[in-house]
Amino acid sequence: MKVLVPIKRVVDFNVKIRVRADGSGVDLANVKMSMNPFDEIALEEAIRLKEAGTAEEIIAVSIGPQKTQETIRTALAMGADRGIFIHCDDELEPLAVAKLLKGVVEAESPQLVILGKQAIDNDCNQTGQMLAALLGWPQGTFASKLVLDGAAARVTREVDGGLQTVILKTPCIVTTDLRLNEPRYASLPNIMKAKKKPLEEKSVADYGVDVASGLKVLKTEDPASREAGEIVGNAAELVEKLKNEAGVI
Ligand code: AMP
Repeated sequence: MKVLVPIKRVVDFNVKIRVRADGSGVDLANVKMSMNPFDEIALEEAIRLKEAGTAEEIIAVSIGPQKTQETIRTALAMGADRGIFIHCDDELEPLAVAKLLKGVVEAESPQLVILGKQAIDNDCNQTGQMLAALLGWPQGTFASKLVLDGAAARVTREVDGGLQTVILKTPCIVTTDLRLNEPRYASLPNIMKAKKKPLEEKSVADYGVDVASGLKVLKTEDPASREAGEIVGNAAELVEKLKNEAGVI
């Protein structure tokens, strides 16, 4: 079985985001970038399927500017067999990404596509669902467990207040939640080996897809800063302040 894992290069989750002074977006100058954490989980799951003998080949695909190739190399060092880099300098919305991924699926015919449930930079949580719709494939979103059994995938989904288990006919789409697994780190020997793994470069034009955006970001703002706290002398003073200053009791 071939598994396709779409990965996105995003601002590292440890970085404190700075909004540009003119509110036009997030400042990306000299900011550490990494693989989207949910995509690391997707890749880890694909690697485990390969280690279990269920998957034969793992293809990591990413769409973005030139430096996106570094993120694909990380995926190759973790355990993907080959990479596909689709060069695009524009910020794409999920529908455009899903259309490009559909092109990759048609060219590669994977049995399974595992995506992150959301990219932590835009928090869209749309691409997997859109790809499933464009392909007409079943989808198991927010997976916390994945078991492959012949031509079916059993996906346990994290839903509000509980778990739901669904069975999908393959080929299918799965999106990962946080508790699916704990991704491995790439070892130094594997980082060296990854330099020799195949990484194919493509352009948006190769897929004949219209990626024009139907969306315009009007403004990006920092969250409101929190007011400083106050230390009170005793419980009676606290109750008095809650009653007469905050007006919450
Ligand atoms: P989103 O719908 O933007 O929150 O992204 C959900 C998932 O789609 C991500 O976790 C990735 O697996 C995939 N994805 C989004 N953007 C890209 C991209 N530029 N290249 C490859 N995969 C992507």
